[in-house]
Amino acid sequence: MTELEVIQGDITALAVDVIVNAANSTLLGGGGVDGAIHRAAGPELLAECQNIAERHGGCPAGEAVITGAYKLPCKRVIHTVGPIWRGGGAREPELLGSCYRKSLILAQKEGLESIAFPNISTGVYGYPKTLAVKTAVQTVKAALPAIPGIKRILFVCFDQENYALYTAELTI
Ligand code: ADP
Repeated sequence: MTELEVIQGDITALAVDVIVNAANSTLLGGGGVDGAIHRAAGPELLAECQNIAERHGGCPAGEAVITGAYKLPCKRVIHTVGPIWRGGGAREPELLGSCYRKSLILAQKEGLESIAFPNISTGVYGYPKTLAVKTAVQTVKAALPAIPGIKRILFVCFDQENYALYTAELTI
């Protein structure tokens, strides 16, 4: 059984096995949750991300890569790149779903049992929160049979609006 939980707070404070970063495709850091994760982890995280970026040319939307967590209380960080909202006709739901699915599959492959997600793409990338929550929860639920090693999945909401949306979506 995998537990799904919703909490409100700062993802960088969580001592789960892995937290997910809503990165950008350069992997070189940014604002929002990405900036908070890099600040809390320290400069070694950026160095590891730079190394991946040099070898692989960054990370396209919908994909995920894993690094160490350095000064963070979690064990690892998965960096996934959400789609920028362009009105809904540019494969945004497919790419957002892919972020959640690929992050879960990567976590399972690495033997990680607890994972915390931020509300990917709902900040600077402008994805409507009411739509993003449905894709996030539906994708995670659909992936559960493929990830038996993952015991806890946390949706970490920073703002009250997302917290209310996730709470409602998960109690349906
Ligand atoms: P994106 O570019 O994917 O939209 P953002 O970082 O701008 O990424 O926003 C993604 C979500 O992360 C937003 O809902 C934002 O409120 C939230 N967020 C920002 N800082 C944190 C944090 N420290 N912990 C958890 N969530 C955060």
